[in-house]
Amino acid sequence: MLMRRRISIILAAVCMAAFCSCAFVGTNEETAQKTEFFAMDTYMSVTAYGESAQKAIELAKDEVQRLDKLWSVTDENSEIFAVNSGGEVSVSGETAQLISFMLEMAKRTGGTLEPTLYPVVKAWGFTGGENRVPSGDEIQELLKNVGYEKVSVSGNTVTIPSGVMLDTGAVGKGYASDKAAEVLKENGVDSALIDLGGNIVLIGSKPDGKDWKIGVRDPEGDGVVGVISASDCAIVTSGAYERNFTVDGVVYGHIIDPKSGAPVDNDILSVTVIASEGRLCDALSTALFVMGKDGAITHWRTHKDFEMIMLCKDGQAYVTEGIADRFEADEKHSEMKINVITG
Ligand code: AMP
Ligand code: MG
Repeated sequence: MLMRRRISIILAAVCMAAFCSCAFVGTNEETAQKTEFFAMDTYMSVTAYGESAQKAIELAKDEVQRLDKLWSVTDENSEIFAVNSGGEVSVSGETAQLISFMLEMAKRTGGTLEPTLYPVVKAWGFTGGENRVPSGDEIQELLKNVGYEKVSVSGNTVTIPSGVMLDTGAVGKGYASDKAAEVLKENGVDSALIDLGGNIVLIGSKPDGKDWKIGVRDPEGDGVVGVISASDCAIVTSGAYERNFTVDGVVYGHIIDPKSGAPVDNDILSVTVIASEGRLCDALSTALFVMGKDGAITHWRTHKDFEMIMLCKDGQAYVTEGIADRFEADEKHSEMKINVITG
């Protein structure tokens, strides 16, 4: 059964918790302005503080909805839909930038982030349609059209062979969260929390000057395994628990290994990435999940432009040194071993 990305927002007296990857323990509800909406196939919210917050959150929402229209893979009027028809396609500057970024990240991650995986993702029923287990032959046939190096961008023109199709699912929300943050800042907001289906961007600190508290969801149960204290950064989690279906007792998750064309089944349950930009976090969280624990650690040691928290099937957490003292296990998970990854 398809499990939609679960975002539940619990409002308590002084506590707002958004469970996907994240839970923000808030403050100063009096001056908080918040908008909630559905876009990019998930629940989203923008919370901001200050005098200009009300107007700014509406403009940020408009921006995300505008990008959703441009980047939807299923909307026949979107620019990505036009690109997926093949040939030389002229797109807007921001769509060209999104595609260039996806190609750049595909290269950086050795193709574990694979922007052209759409036909395979679709065959498993993860983007519209019924969930099903495609045959090995069907997957091999579809994989012939997969490969980010088949796509090129020059200025605002995208060149893509017929049959090759982009999927913005792994990066679009992160990219849109950065754009929403720009809109908020341009409109005078210096304290805000953007949550686009678990893609979090934190602008500044909380209004009281303290760090935001962002919970990392328990991939195997309800609630959180721990809390990250942070300000002015983006935080994104990828995990198979977000969308999956079960056939004959086997759970098939929505993140696909581009080599096999099958859902990832490795040693990681979820990976949370913390960095300055949402787009980098989103691209990396998906790619690191595909890489597995050792590959993800190697990638971190090579680049060091992000921090991460991996929750693994061995019941342990693996946390990079730059975030280790900002991550605290939840009471219920106080026994969990936290390994600090050093450079
Ligand atoms: P995320 O939730 O950001 O980890 O992205 C997962 C979504 O990206 C899936 O629902 C698919 O639409 C798509 N996807 C799945 N596997 C990959 C992959 N290896 N590379 C790029 N996109 C993927
Ligand atoms: Mg992602």
